[in-house]
Amino acid sequence: MTIMNVKTRFAPSPTGYLHLGNVRTALFNALLARRWRGRFLLRIEDTDRERNRPEFVAALLEDLRWLGLDWDEGPEVGGPHPPYAQSERTAIYAAYYQRLADAEQAYPCFCTPTELALSRKAQLAAGRPPRYAGTCARLNEAERRARWDRGLRPTLRFRVPVGRMVEFTDRVRGPQRFASDDIGDFVIRRADDSPQFFFANAVDDALMGITHVLRGEDHLANTPRQLLVLEALGLPVPDYGHLALIVGTDGGPLSKRAGDLSLRELRAAGYLPEALLNYLARLGHTYPGDAWMAAEALAANFALERLGRAPAGYDGAQLLHWQAEAVRHATPERLWAWMGSAVHQRVPPASRDEFVHAIWPNIRFPADAVFWAERLFGAELPFSPEARAVILQAGPEFFVRALAVYDEHGAAYQPLIEDLKRLTGTKGKSLFMPLRAALTGETHGPELARILALLPPEIARRRLQAGC
Ligand code: GLU
Repeated sequence: MTIMNVKTRFAPSPTGYLHLGNVRTALFNALLARRWRGRFLLRIEDTDRERNRPEFVAALLEDLRWLGLDWDEGPEVGGPHPPYAQSERTAIYAAYYQRLADAEQAYPCFCTPTELALSRKAQLAAGRPPRYAGTCARLNEAERRARWDRGLRPTLRFRVPVGRMVEFTDRVRGPQRFASDDIGDFVIRRADDSPQFFFANAVDDALMGITHVLRGEDHLANTPRQLLVLEALGLPVPDYGHLALIVGTDGGPLSKRAGDLSLRELRAAGYLPEALLNYLARLGHTYPGDAWMAAEALAANFALERLGRAPAGYDGAQLLHWQAEAVRHATPERLWAWMGSAVHQRVPPASRDEFVHAIWPNIRFPADAVFWAERLFGAELPFSPEARAVILQAGPEFFVRALAVYDEHGAAYQPLIEDLKRLTGTKGKSLFMPLRAALTGETHGPELARILALLPPEIARRRLQAGC
């Protein structure tokens, strides 16, 4: 199936930092747009004055860029439908409110929060699902004026048509049907004049030419309301696809330990963007193979048909797997930069390339690189208990000989190993392990030949001597 002129969007509310859940939503929308050479738009849904914070907007722009999810239209980039922050679109919404009010498809509601809460309670007590009771639905002009004159400031409520079925085909979940009678008249403009989500979100999608909306399943129940608003305004309706939520391994919501970490925290821990992209693109979406993919390949192989309905389980081990893959596929220059200043300060400039190549298979995070920089270039070598045991077992004689062959061959690995083998009568593990343990303080790690090449001679000698 080919889709023409795709335009998707990510529409975050800046009430916190991006986390895996909303990053996946952004990613899927970006991938869908790229797959069909369409456009990906970013819109800031900052209508909740209480909970929005400008620093969250700045953070989310930065985080999206770090991930490589650049937007074609939106804040800082511009485009044909500005402004891209809902808080700046009040004048645009006003015209649409007016149209609904003029057609009696929306009405001012003067019910106070206390009255609404009481009505809700009464309905629940009577075993009925709480809906707006319709108190203000049929006020005449004089009644409205009287309330206004009493100082009450109204919300604007959408009048839901009676006895209708609202139907749509969800791109993930298939055909959906909702009875309009189950939906109470809902607020589209708050008493402080700010727009309610259902309204601003739907109207903006239409005005900005959005063709596909992929978003969390928690929004599914909002969709019939949004369809009714769009229908009443004669605005185009996008294709909706509601993504299965990400759950913890126990099936419950994500716990702190399991991955509701913010993108910033993951980034600070050293996760590479490609690891997160490869992991998230497979969370609720399947690819034909399970090989690592560059961002372009993730997009080229993304398909709406491959979105799954089952809840997507977060699995930290999988994320680690993709992190290892991302490290494996990175360039040496990039890895060096990612290793950070603790490594940069330790590793002599001349050894930089060799260091990166030597430890490459042994690292997943910058902290691992710091570990090896300390083991290779640190003045004090901490020995693991295993390394101590291996050194003791090999005995001082072994190291007297090791020191002798090192003095003769230096870091020339083959001749050094051949001679040591001959002199000590050891081979295999009992030859390599004591050397490794004495030189690095560990019984695992980078290739021994590379370690020898990297170690400054005075350090190598000192460490072999310590075994004697
Ligand atoms: N601002 C909404 C949210 O962050 C957007 C929902 C949507 O994608 O339509 O949940």
